[in-house]
Amino acid sequence: MSGFEAFETWTDRERRDSQWERLSSRLPELRRTNPFYIARLPEHASGLGDLPFTTKADLSEDQAANPPFGTNLTYPLERYVRLHQTSGTTGQPLRLLDTAESWQWWRECWQPIYRAAGVTARDRIFFAFSFGPFVGFWSAFAGAEQLGALCLTGGAMSTTERVAAIVASEATVLMCTPTYALRLAEAAREEGIDLARSALRVSIHAGEPGASIAATRDRIEKELGVEAFDHTGATEVGAHGFSCSARDGVHINESDFIVEVLDPRTGDAREDGEGELVLTNLGRWGMPVIRYRTGDRVRAVRDRCGCGRTLVKLAGGIAGRVDDMVTVRGVNVFPSAIEAIIRRFDEVGEYRVELTRVREMDELRCTVEAPADIAGDVARAIHRELGIRCAVDAVASGTLPRFEMKAKRFHKTNV
Ligand SMILES: [Zn+2]
Repeated sequence: MSGFEAFETWTDRERRDSQWERLSSRLPELRRTNPFYIARLPEHASGLGDLPFTTKADLSEDQAANPPFGTNLTYPLERYVRLHQTSGTTGQPLRLLDTAESWQWWRECWQPIYRAAGVTARDRIFFAFSFGPFVGFWSAFAGAEQLGALCLTGGAMSTTERVAAIVASEATVLMCTPTYALRLAEAAREEGIDLARSALRVSIHAGEPGASIAATRDRIEKELGVEAFDHTGATEVGAHGFSCSARDGVHINESDFIVEVLDPRTGDAREDGEGELVLTNLGRWGMPVIRYRTGDRVRAVRDRCGCGRTLVKLAGGIAGRVDDMVTVRGVNVFPSAIEAIIRRFDEVGEYRVELTRVREMDELRCTVEAPADIAGDVARAIHRELGIRCAVDAVASGTLPRFEMKAKRFHKTNV
Protein backbone atom coordinates (compact mmCIF):
# COMPACT_ATOMS: atom_id res chain seq x y z
CA MET A 1 0.00 0.00 0.00
CA SER A 2 1.38 3.44 -0.85
CA GLY A 3 0.17 7.00 -0.80
CA PHE A 4 0.55 7.61 2.91
CA GLU A 5 0.42 11.10 4.33
CA ALA A 6 3.85 12.11 5.68
CA PHE A 7 2.81 11.66 9.33
CA GLU A 8 1.86 8.03 8.79
CA THR A 9 5.50 7.05 8.32
CA TRP A 10 7.16 9.53 10.70
CA THR A 11 10.28 8.60 12.62
CA ASP A 12 10.11 8.91 16.44
CA ARG A 13 12.07 12.14 16.19
CA GLU A 14 9.77 13.66 13.56
CA ARG A 15 6.72 12.70 15.59
CA ARG A 16 7.99 14.13 18.89
CA ASP A 17 9.18 17.36 17.28
CA SER A 18 5.97 17.96 15.38
CA GLN A 19 3.70 17.15 18.31
CA TRP A 20 5.55 19.32 20.81
CA GLU A 21 5.79 22.20 18.35
CA ARG A 22 2.06 22.09 17.75
CA LEU A 23 1.15 21.78 21.44
CA SER A 24 3.66 24.23 22.84
CA SER A 25 2.71 26.93 20.32
CA ARG A 26 -0.83 26.87 21.78
CA LEU A 27 0.02 26.79 25.48
CA PRO A 28 0.48 30.60 25.82
CA GLU A 29 -3.07 31.18 24.57
CA LEU A 30 -4.50 28.58 26.97
CA ARG A 31 -2.56 30.14 29.86
CA ARG A 32 -4.03 33.50 28.93
CA THR A 33 -7.69 32.82 28.11
CA ASN A 34 -8.78 29.31 29.14
CA PRO A 35 -9.77 29.43 32.84
CA PHE A 36 -9.69 25.64 33.25
CA TYR A 37 -6.10 25.38 32.02
CA ILE A 38 -4.98 28.70 33.52
CA ALA A 39 -5.51 27.01 36.87
CA ARG A 40 -3.58 23.90 35.83
CA LEU A 41 -0.74 24.67 33.42
CA PRO A 42 2.69 25.51 34.81
CA GLU A 43 4.25 28.80 33.73
CA HIS A 44 7.06 27.04 31.87
CA ALA A 45 7.04 23.61 30.28
CA SER A 46 9.87 22.13 28.24
CA GLY A 47 8.10 18.88 27.41
CA LEU A 48 4.87 16.97 27.73
CA GLY A 49 5.98 15.48 31.04
CA ASP A 50 5.86 18.95 32.65
CA LEU A 51 2.11 19.19 32.02
CA PRO A 52 -0.52 17.78 34.40
CA PHE A 53 -2.96 14.98 33.55
CA THR A 54 -6.64 15.78 32.98
CA THR A 55 -9.28 13.33 34.16
CA LYS A 56 -12.93 12.94 33.31
CA ALA A 57 -13.68 13.79 36.95
CA ASP A 58 -11.79 17.11 36.51
CA LEU A 59 -14.00 18.01 33.55
CA SER A 60 -17.23 16.82 35.21
CA GLU A 61 -16.57 18.63 38.48
CA ASP A 62 -15.67 21.81 36.62
CA GLN A 63 -18.86 21.62 34.57
CA ALA A 64 -20.99 20.90 37.64
CA ALA A 65 -19.46 23.87 39.47
CA ASN A 66 -19.73 26.17 36.41
CA PRO A 67 -22.85 25.14 34.50
CA PRO A 68 -23.71 24.56 31.78
CA PHE A 69 -20.38 24.35 29.90
CA GLY A 70 -17.66 24.61 32.56
CA THR A 71 -14.54 26.74 32.24
CA ASN A 72 -12.56 24.79 29.61
CA LEU A 73 -13.36 27.53 27.09
CA THR A 74 -10.54 29.29 25.28
CA TYR A 75 -12.86 31.70 23.47
CA PRO A 76 -16.05 33.68 24.19
CA LEU A 77 -19.19 31.53 23.82
CA GLU A 78 -20.25 33.15 20.55
CA ARG A 79 -17.28 31.50 18.82
CA TYR A 80 -18.74 28.02 19.38
CA VAL A 81 -21.09 26.42 16.86
CA ARG A 82 -21.76 22.86 18.02
CA LEU A 83 -22.66 21.07 21.25
CA HIS A 84 -22.24 17.33 21.76
CA GLN A 85 -22.47 15.34 24.94
CA THR A 86 -21.21 12.06 26.31
CA SER A 87 -23.68 9.23 26.69
CA GLY A 88 -23.50 9.63 30.47
CA THR A 89 -23.21 5.92 31.26
CA THR A 90 -20.93 6.85 34.15
CA GLY A 91 -22.64 9.84 35.77
CA GLN A 92 -23.92 13.12 34.35
CA PRO A 93 -23.35 13.70 30.63
CA LEU A 94 -20.43 15.97 29.83
CA ARG A 95 -21.12 18.85 27.40
CA LEU A 96 -18.49 19.51 24.75
CA LEU A 97 -18.42 22.56 22.51
CA ASP A 98 -16.74 22.99 19.14
CA THR A 99 -15.87 26.11 17.22
CA ALA A 100 -16.14 26.15 13.41
CA GLU A 101 -12.35 25.64 13.31
CA SER A 102 -12.38 22.68 15.68
CA TRP A 103 -15.29 21.07 13.84
CA GLN A 104 -13.23 21.41 10.65
CA TRP A 105 -10.43 19.64 12.54
CA TRP A 106 -12.81 16.72 13.29
CA ARG A 107 -13.50 16.50 9.53
CA GLU A 108 -9.77 16.34 8.76
CA CYS A 109 -9.30 13.64 11.41
CA TRP A 110 -11.67 11.37 9.47
CA GLN A 111 -9.59 11.47 6.26
CA PRO A 112 -6.90 8.96 7.36
CA ILE A 113 -9.67 6.71 8.75
CA TYR A 114 -11.50 6.58 5.43
CA ARG A 115 -8.24 6.26 3.53
CA ALA A 116 -7.16 3.22 5.58
CA ALA A 117 -10.50 1.56 4.80
CA GLY A 118 -10.17 2.34 1.08
CA VAL A 119 -13.24 4.60 1.10
CA THR A 120 -13.24 7.30 -1.60
CA ALA A 121 -15.41 9.99 -3.19
CA ARG A 122 -16.98 7.26 -5.33
CA ASP A 123 -18.58 5.63 -2.28
CA ARG A 124 -22.10 5.98 -0.91
CA ILE A 125 -21.89 5.89 2.85
CA PHE A 126 -24.90 4.91 4.96
CA PHE A 127 -24.87 6.13 8.57
CA ALA A 128 -27.01 3.82 10.73
CA PHE A 129 -27.00 6.31 13.57
CA SER A 130 -29.65 8.28 15.47
CA PHE A 131 -28.01 11.73 15.02
CA GLY A 132 -28.89 12.71 18.59
CA PRO A 133 -26.69 14.79 20.94
CA PHE A 134 -24.01 12.06 21.17
CA VAL A 135 -21.14 12.93 18.76
CA GLY A 136 -21.04 9.33 17.46
CA PHE A 137 -21.06 9.37 13.67
CA TRP A 138 -21.84 13.11 13.31
CA SER A 139 -18.16 13.81 12.74
CA ALA A 140 -17.85 10.82 10.40
CA PHE A 141 -20.70 12.27 8.34
CA ALA A 142 -18.99 15.66 8.16
CA GLY A 143 -15.68 13.97 7.29
CA ALA A 144 -17.33 11.95 4.52
CA GLU A 145 -18.81 15.10 2.98
CA GLN A 146 -15.32 16.57 2.99
CA LEU A 147 -14.04 13.42 1.27
CA GLY A 148 -16.65 13.98 -1.43
CA ALA A 149 -18.58 10.75 -0.82
CA LEU A 150 -22.37 10.60 -1.04
CA CYS A 151 -23.61 10.71 2.56
CA LEU A 152 -26.85 8.92 3.40
CA THR A 153 -28.40 9.64 6.78
CA GLY A 154 -30.03 6.76 8.64
CA GLY A 155 -31.46 8.88 11.48
CA ALA A 156 -35.05 8.52 12.70
CA MET A 157 -35.57 5.16 10.98
CA SER A 158 -36.51 1.72 12.21
CA THR A 159 -34.07 -1.12 11.59
CA THR A 160 -36.26 -2.46 8.79
CA GLU A 161 -36.38 0.97 7.16
CA ARG A 162 -32.59 1.21 7.34
CA VAL A 163 -32.19 -2.17 5.63
CA ALA A 164 -34.53 -1.02 2.86
CA ALA A 165 -32.63 2.28 2.49
CA ILE A 166 -29.25 0.52 2.25
CA VAL A 167 -30.57 -1.74 -0.51
CA ALA A 168 -32.51 0.97 -2.39
CA SER A 169 -29.68 3.52 -2.38
CA GLU A 170 -27.05 0.88 -3.26
CA ALA A 171 -24.89 2.03 -0.35
CA THR A 172 -21.31 0.74 -0.54
CA VAL A 173 -20.13 1.64 2.97
CA LEU A 174 -21.90 1.13 6.32
CA MET A 175 -21.13 3.05 9.52
CA CYS A 176 -22.55 1.72 12.82
CA THR A 177 -21.67 -0.13 16.02
CA PRO A 178 -20.61 -3.78 15.57
CA THR A 179 -23.72 -4.86 17.48
CA TYR A 180 -25.96 -2.92 15.15
CA ALA A 181 -24.30 -4.35 12.03
CA LEU A 182 -25.35 -7.82 13.18
CA ARG A 183 -28.81 -6.52 14.09
CA LEU A 184 -29.23 -5.10 10.56
CA ALA A 185 -28.25 -8.46 9.06
CA GLU A 186 -30.74 -10.23 11.32
CA ALA A 187 -33.57 -7.82 10.46
CA ALA A 188 -32.74 -8.19 6.76
CA ARG A 189 -32.98 -11.98 6.97
CA GLU A 190 -36.42 -11.66 8.59
CA GLU A 191 -37.47 -9.67 5.50
CA GLY A 192 -35.98 -12.27 3.18
CA ILE A 193 -33.08 -9.94 2.23
CA ASP A 194 -29.45 -11.09 2.16
CA LEU A 195 -27.29 -8.00 2.82
CA ALA A 196 -24.22 -9.97 1.74
CA ARG A 197 -25.63 -9.65 -1.79
CA SER A 198 -26.15 -5.86 -1.51
CA ALA A 199 -23.70 -3.24 -2.82
CA LEU A 200 -22.06 -2.93 0.65
CA ARG A 201 -18.31 -3.58 0.46
CA VAL A 202 -16.82 -1.86 3.54
CA SER A 203 -18.01 -1.21 7.08
CA ILE A 204 -16.46 1.00 9.74
CA HIS A 205 -17.43 0.42 13.37
CA ALA A 206 -17.09 2.33 16.61
CA GLY A 207 -18.51 2.45 20.11
CA GLU A 208 -17.59 -1.14 20.99
CA PRO A 209 -14.45 -3.25 20.48
CA GLY A 210 -16.28 -5.74 18.19
CA ALA A 211 -14.51 -4.92 14.91
CA SER A 212 -11.17 -5.74 16.59
CA ILE A 213 -12.51 -9.05 17.96
CA ALA A 214 -11.75 -11.61 15.23
CA ALA A 215 -14.89 -13.74 15.77
CA THR A 216 -17.23 -10.72 15.76
CA ARG A 217 -15.50 -9.16 12.75
CA ASP A 218 -15.68 -12.49 10.84
CA ARG A 219 -19.39 -12.70 11.48
CA ILE A 220 -20.02 -9.09 10.36
CA GLU A 221 -17.97 -9.69 7.21
CA LYS A 222 -19.81 -12.90 6.40
CA GLU A 223 -23.32 -11.61 7.11
CA LEU A 224 -22.90 -8.24 5.35
CA GLY A 225 -20.41 -9.19 2.63
CA VAL A 226 -18.01 -6.42 3.67
CA GLU A 227 -14.46 -5.80 4.83
CA ALA A 228 -14.94 -4.50 8.39
CA PHE A 229 -12.72 -1.85 10.01
CA ASP A 230 -12.48 -0.60 13.58
CA HIS A 231 -12.45 3.05 14.60
CA THR A 232 -11.77 4.49 18.03
CA GLY A 233 -12.74 7.91 19.29
CA ALA A 234 -14.19 9.77 22.24
CA THR A 235 -16.48 12.77 22.59
CA GLU A 236 -14.02 14.50 24.93
CA VAL A 237 -11.00 13.87 22.69
CA GLY A 238 -11.81 13.37 19.00
CA ALA A 239 -11.82 10.73 16.25
CA HIS A 240 -8.40 9.23 16.84
CA GLY A 241 -7.92 5.63 15.67
CA PHE A 242 -8.39 3.25 12.76
CA SER A 243 -7.58 -0.34 11.91
CA CYS A 244 -5.48 -1.15 8.85
CA SER A 245 -4.79 -4.00 6.43
CA ALA A 246 -2.79 -5.84 9.14
CA ARG A 247 -6.08 -6.33 11.04
CA ASP A 248 -4.47 -6.81 14.43
CA GLY A 249 -5.08 -3.49 16.13
CA VAL A 250 -5.87 0.19 15.83
CA HIS A 251 -3.39 2.91 14.79
CA ILE A 252 -3.71 6.32 16.40
CA ASN A 253 -3.46 9.42 14.20
CA GLU A 254 -0.35 10.88 15.83
CA SER A 255 -0.48 13.99 13.72
CA ASP A 256 -3.54 15.14 15.68
CA PHE A 257 -3.21 13.23 18.95
CA ILE A 258 -0.35 12.57 21.35
CA VAL A 259 -0.46 9.05 22.77
CA GLU A 260 0.84 8.06 26.18
CA VAL A 261 0.30 4.93 28.21
CA LEU A 262 0.02 5.28 31.97
CA ASP A 263 1.34 2.40 34.04
CA PRO A 264 -1.36 1.87 36.68
CA ARG A 265 1.15 0.68 39.30
CA THR A 266 3.95 3.22 38.99
CA GLY A 267 2.00 6.22 37.64
CA ASP A 268 4.66 6.60 34.92
CA ALA A 269 3.57 7.62 31.41
CA ARG A 270 5.44 6.10 28.47
CA GLU A 271 5.18 6.12 24.66
CA ASP A 272 4.16 2.47 24.51
CA GLY A 273 3.47 -0.57 26.68
CA GLU A 274 0.47 -1.70 28.64
CA GLY A 275 -1.80 0.49 30.73
CA GLU A 276 -4.34 3.31 30.52
CA LEU A 277 -4.51 5.25 27.25
CA VAL A 278 -3.73 8.96 27.74
CA LEU A 279 -4.44 11.34 24.85
CA THR A 280 -3.76 14.98 24.05
CA ASN A 281 -5.65 16.45 21.10
CA LEU A 282 -3.91 18.95 18.82
CA GLY A 283 -6.69 20.76 16.99
CA ARG A 284 -9.66 21.37 19.24
CA TRP A 285 -8.30 24.51 20.80
CA GLY A 286 -11.65 25.92 21.91
CA MET A 287 -12.08 23.06 24.41
CA PRO A 288 -8.88 21.00 24.42
CA VAL A 289 -7.84 18.07 26.57
CA ILE A 290 -4.22 17.79 27.64
CA ARG A 291 -2.91 14.41 28.83
CA TYR A 292 -6.46 13.14 29.17
CA ARG A 293 -6.84 9.87 31.04
CA THR A 294 -9.34 8.02 28.81
CA GLY A 295 -9.99 5.09 31.17
CA ASP A 296 -9.32 2.73 28.24
CA ARG A 297 -7.05 -0.21 28.89
CA VAL A 298 -4.58 -0.77 26.01
CA ARG A 299 -1.32 -2.36 24.89
CA ALA A 300 0.49 0.10 22.63
CA VAL A 301 3.26 -1.13 20.31
CA ARG A 302 5.67 0.85 18.16
CA ASP A 303 7.06 -1.74 15.73
CA ARG A 304 6.62 -0.86 12.07
CA CYS A 305 3.26 -2.32 11.08
CA GLY A 306 2.76 -4.77 8.22
CA CYS A 307 0.73 -2.05 6.50
CA GLY A 308 3.83 0.19 6.33
CA ARG A 309 2.77 2.80 8.89
CA THR A 310 4.96 3.73 11.82
CA LEU A 311 2.05 5.11 13.84
CA VAL A 312 1.61 3.59 17.29
CA LYS A 313 -0.76 0.62 17.29
CA LEU A 314 -3.12 -0.43 20.05
CA ALA A 315 -2.78 -4.21 19.77
CA GLY A 316 -6.22 -5.81 19.55
CA GLY A 317 -7.88 -2.37 19.60
CA ILE A 318 -9.36 -1.06 22.83
CA ALA A 319 -10.36 -4.19 24.74
CA GLY A 320 -12.35 -2.27 27.31
CA ARG A 321 -12.44 0.44 29.89
CA VAL A 322 -10.47 0.00 33.07
CA ASP A 323 -13.81 -0.04 34.97
CA ASP A 324 -15.29 -2.74 32.69
CA MET A 325 -12.82 -5.34 33.87
CA VAL A 326 -14.26 -7.87 36.30
CA THR A 327 -12.46 -10.29 38.55
CA VAL A 328 -13.99 -13.73 38.71
CA ARG A 329 -12.33 -15.82 41.44
CA GLY A 330 -9.03 -14.05 40.98
CA VAL A 331 -9.07 -14.02 37.16
CA ASN A 332 -9.29 -10.61 35.44
CA VAL A 333 -11.67 -10.65 32.50
CA PHE A 334 -12.84 -8.02 30.02
CA PRO A 335 -16.33 -8.49 28.57
CA SER A 336 -14.66 -8.43 25.13
CA ALA A 337 -12.78 -11.66 26.00
CA ILE A 338 -16.10 -13.40 26.60
CA GLU A 339 -17.54 -11.93 23.39
CA ALA A 340 -14.49 -13.23 21.49
CA ILE A 341 -15.44 -16.77 22.51
CA ILE A 342 -19.24 -16.59 22.20
CA ARG A 343 -19.14 -15.03 18.71
CA ARG A 344 -17.23 -18.02 17.39
CA PHE A 345 -20.40 -20.10 17.75
CA ASP A 346 -22.42 -19.42 14.61
CA GLU A 347 -25.54 -20.85 16.28
CA VAL A 348 -25.54 -18.13 18.95
CA GLY A 349 -27.56 -14.99 18.20
CA GLU A 350 -27.83 -12.41 20.96
CA TYR A 351 -26.36 -13.09 24.41
CA ARG A 352 -26.24 -11.68 27.94
CA VAL A 353 -23.68 -12.02 30.74
CA GLU A 354 -24.40 -11.59 34.43
CA LEU A 355 -21.81 -11.25 37.12
CA THR A 356 -23.31 -11.86 40.54
CA ARG A 357 -21.45 -11.39 43.76
CA VAL A 358 -22.68 -13.91 46.32
CA ARG A 359 -20.99 -13.76 49.75
CA GLU A 360 -17.81 -12.18 48.32
CA MET A 361 -17.65 -14.82 45.59
CA ASP A 362 -18.19 -13.82 41.98
CA GLU A 363 -20.41 -16.03 39.86
CA LEU A 364 -20.56 -15.65 36.10
CA ARG A 365 -23.72 -16.65 34.27
CA CYS A 366 -24.36 -16.39 30.58
CA THR A 367 -27.58 -16.61 28.58
CA VAL A 368 -27.33 -17.35 24.86
CA GLU A 369 -29.96 -17.45 22.14
CA ALA A 370 -29.06 -20.85 20.72
CA PRO A 371 -30.16 -24.48 20.51
CA ALA A 372 -29.93 -26.16 23.95
CA ASP A 373 -27.00 -28.43 23.04
CA ILE A 374 -24.74 -25.43 22.31
CA ALA A 375 -24.82 -24.15 25.91
CA GLY A 376 -22.44 -26.81 27.20
CA ASP A 377 -19.96 -26.16 24.37
CA VAL A 378 -19.91 -22.42 25.15
CA ALA A 379 -19.37 -23.10 28.88
CA ARG A 380 -16.49 -25.46 28.15
CA ALA A 381 -14.84 -22.99 25.75
CA ILE A 382 -15.02 -20.19 28.36
CA HIS A 383 -13.56 -22.49 31.01
CA ARG A 384 -10.79 -23.74 28.75
CA GLU A 385 -9.74 -20.35 27.41
CA LEU A 386 -10.33 -17.97 30.31
CA GLY A 387 -9.95 -20.39 33.22
CA ILE A 388 -13.29 -19.45 34.75
CA ARG A 389 -16.44 -21.44 35.31
CA CYS A 390 -19.53 -19.93 33.74
CA ALA A 391 -23.03 -21.39 33.81
CA VAL A 392 -24.55 -21.06 30.33
CA ASP A 393 -28.30 -21.22 29.65
CA ALA A 394 -29.82 -21.45 26.19
CA VAL A 395 -33.00 -19.55 25.32
CA ALA A 396 -35.07 -19.23 22.17
CA SER A 397 -34.08 -16.79 19.41
CA GLY A 398 -35.60 -13.33 19.88
CA THR A 399 -35.84 -13.63 23.71
CA LEU A 400 -33.05 -11.18 24.65
CA PRO A 401 -33.07 -7.41 24.05
CA ARG A 402 -31.72 -5.90 20.80
CA PHE A 403 -29.60 -2.74 20.77
CA GLU A 404 -29.37 0.18 18.39
CA MET A 405 -26.18 1.83 19.63
CA LYS A 406 -23.84 0.34 22.17
CA ALA A 407 -25.06 -2.98 23.51
CA LYS A 408 -25.61 -3.50 27.20
CA ARG A 409 -25.01 -7.21 27.53
CA PHE A 410 -22.95 -7.22 30.71
CA HIS A 411 -24.74 -6.85 34.04
CA LYS A 412 -23.31 -6.80 37.56
CA THR A 413 -25.37 -7.39 40.68
CA ASN A 414 -24.57 -7.82 44.35
CA VAL A 415 -26.58 -10.36 46.28
ZN1 LIG B 1 -1.04 -0.97 10.22
